[in-house]
Amino acid sequence: MSADPVRAKALAILREQRLTLLHVACRKLADVPDEAIGRVQSSREGGATYAIDMFDGAFTCTCKHGGDCAHALAVQLVVGAGAR
Ligand SMILES: [Zn+2]
Repeated sequence: MSADPVRAKALAILREQRLTLLHVACRKLADVPDEAIGRVQSSREGGATYAIDMFDGAFTCTCKHGGDCAHALAVQLVVGAGAR
């Protein structure tokens, strides 16, 4: 069991089904997807929705952490892409 709080949050996002993947793409002959777009609903009722964009393995997110966050990690865990 990991003590990493970002990872724990990312796993909660997946467990609570708050991630919606809108787009996943893989360049020809690439090993892993290099493009993804997702949305994560905040756990708070009436909370924000965050948009995560991954291109060339680099993540950006509309939350204040800007891509180094649980939202991006949740996308990464599902699509199996990008180094962290
Ligand atoms: Zn985020």
